[in-house]
Amino acid sequence: MEFSSKLLEQAVYEMSQLPGIGKRTALRLVLHLLRQSESQTEHLTQALTKLRTDIKFCKNCHNISDVELCEICSNPNRDASVVCVVEDVRDVMAIENTSQYRGQYHVLGGKISPLDGIGPQDLTIHSLVEKVKAGEIEEIIFALSSTMEGDTTNFYIYRQLEEYRIKTSTIARGIAVGDELEYADEVTLGRSILNRIPFENSLKN
Ligand SMILES: [Zn+2]
Repeated sequence: MEFSSKLLEQAVYEMSQLPGIGKRTALRLVLHLLRQSESQTEHLTQALTKLRTDIKFCKNCHNISDVELCEICSNPNRDASVVCVVEDVRDVMAIENTSQYRGQYHVLGGKISPLDGIGPQDLTIHSLVEKVKAGEIEEIIFALSSTMEGDTTNFYIYRQLEEYRIKTSTIARGIAVGDELEYADEVTLGRSILNRIPFENSLKN
């Protein structure tokens, strides 16, 4: 792609670094921004800058938050003894949308994936084990998508927690293999949390 301006080229390059955005789409978006009023573009850049500088991760569940302890963890009506283990904020949002879950979450920040160079130490598994060790948790619900990485991660955590004799369950797999949680419809996802099964049972098939 030949550009008539270095500034334009630079902006298109940065935009094309986003997932799913090719050079042509990047160019279309940048031209759109150029046609917008300057204040509109400023709102976008300010929102992104503030996102990077001000965002916090809840010190208890590691979900994205504006404050030290997120709204879910600081809500006294949520049951802190039940913890749902998820990959990221999208899963929390999906499960919250079902209005069927009153426990807390633990956000791993990804899944174990040797091919992508992501090991257990890159996730928040250690802090989950610490919480269980401290005796704060009675049940862990695994709610990672049923991909190979999801299963590997579940199993790794399960083995880490085995000695503490807490209840471990997994959301019922009404959700087809490979489906991401965020795409499951609310009724199905809500039901699969209520009808969760002991984790041991999921290992047998
Ligand atoms: Zn939290």
